[in-house]
Amino acid sequence: MIQPRGVVYLVGAGPGDPGLITVRGLQLLRDADVVIHDRLIPHELLAEARHDAVVIDAGKAPGAHKQTQDQTNALIVEHALAGRNVVRLKGGDPFVFGRGYEEWTACGRAGIHCEVIPGVTSAVAGPAAAGIPVTHRGIARNFAVVTARTGETDDASDLDYAALVKLDTLVVLMGRAGLRDVAANLILAGRSTTTPVACVQEATTSAQRVVVADLASIAAHADEARLAAPMVMVVGEVARFASEGLGVERLIDAIDPALIKPPNDLRIVLTGSPDLNRKLVHLLVNAGASVIDCRLVSIRYEGDKVSRDEFARCIFNLNWLVFASGHGVGGLVRALRDAGIDLRTLAGVKIAAVGCGTAKKLRQHGLHADVVPKAQTAAGLIAELGGAVKGGRILLPCGDLSRNELADGLTELGASVEKLIVYRNVPASLTKEVAAELRHGFDAIVFASPSAVERFAQTGIDLRDAIVACIGPTTASAARSAGLAPQVVATQHSAEGLVNALLHHLSVTRVPS
Ligand code: SAH
Repeated sequence: MIQPRGVVYLVGAGPGDPGLITVRGLQLLRDADVVIHDRLIPHELLAEARHDAVVIDAGKAPGAHKQTQDQTNALIVEHALAGRNVVRLKGGDPFVFGRGYEEWTACGRAGIHCEVIPGVTSAVAGPAAAGIPVTHRGIARNFAVVTARTGETDDASDLDYAALVKLDTLVVLMGRAGLRDVAANLILAGRSTTTPVACVQEATTSAQRVVVADLASIAAHADEARLAAPMVMVVGEVARFASEGLGVERLIDAIDPALIKPPNDLRIVLTGSPDLNRKLVHLLVNAGASVIDCRLVSIRYEGDKVSRDEFARCIFNLNWLVFASGHGVGGLVRALRDAGIDLRTLAGVKIAAVGCGTAKKLRQHGLHADVVPKAQTAAGLIAELGGAVKGGRILLPCGDLSRNELADGLTELGASVEKLIVYRNVPASLTKEVAAELRHGFDAIVFASPSAVERFAQTGIDLRDAIVACIGPTTASAARSAGLAPQVVATQHSAEGLVNALLHHLSVTRVPS
């Protein structure tokens, strides 16, 4: 007699709360002859199995493997061939890093019918349990899920970090052991150190704990809080939404999601340099705003104006190169090239950058900043460098309108500082089209440098009651000197920081229509 075969159901058990299994998954679990379960499932669910069902733990604790994947596949097949209906109960969703497809194919090869019952994945439900949406209109329009483990090791170094830093939201599973590496690699690949990150341990269970901090400090805070696996990590602006009262320990500022409204009908005026404006346009248009670019400033590199002799004098016996902007980096690289100076002349010179944007620009030219201050301002850089530059020779590649704050501060630290003008802010006047656009009115105006403030003031355009937003305290004080009243001053001095601060301000202050 031929033994009828059983059916195998790959059932997603959900992330932790036993209530998060699907209705169909629960029905099948209650009917199963055999239940083969993972380690990371809500164990309360096992009480739902028939009292005469065979219940087998095929779970694998990291480092202490109970069964190999092949053994598990063989076990599933063996029971089904013996005519038993098997529920293979897997944490979260069976096809999200669960090796579910290997089990599916093992069944197929043995001629056994196998059905997948999807589950609620911890990749989405974990963040949600902490109040974090993986997407949010105007803030994140994509998310990716990666694992920090490859095969059986904790090696997260081969992820494509250059691609990952371009995403709005990054969710990392199996990331506890590799947390420090993942954070460091994301920063190296250009993600801002101030990016919010949330780590959610044992999401959706009564033991849930959440730590929210910035990318630079998350690993230290997770260690301090003794966070342990299972843990899901969420990197991106949405992490800031983690809600109080859900086991959240917050180390960065919160945004109340209820206050964020899509800025659909907003008109925002940009004043700065083309490089920065490109980023601002991208972020603001993504958020649903429309943008008027005044094109008041353009940057012209002055490389050809620096002679080889002048360079030789500047670079001789140099200890530090200090950059106050990305333009300084671009300008110096071009000036060196135009003067025919080999980059190796700079070997051994230490490099400091005022912020992440500048450090990123350095990386584009194959240079790495030795120092980037936590507080990304001239004052922050001076404080960070402190005694390290005493008695040293510093070259400060800068623009013709660059402020003296950095040079003066470094001189006060006992360094000998030389400014080298490598770019110029070239004024441009408003075109007729832009002037007409401005006359139609606008909701906010964005300034990213004192020179942009001055240029705009010269146009004589009436701001009426538009909101004035500045990238940082230096620009804000220039705005005040020009008779403007900045209501928004970004705490992160980058395009992202400026847009976030502005959108947050608008959403709090605007009367909903
Ligand atoms: N298939 C599962 C993922 C398996 S990989 C799913 O869809 O959820 C195992 C990883 O999932 C863990 O290392 C952890 O990163 C994550 N995980 C599973 N349950 C979790 C929980 N309750 N809280 C936080 N992370 C969890």
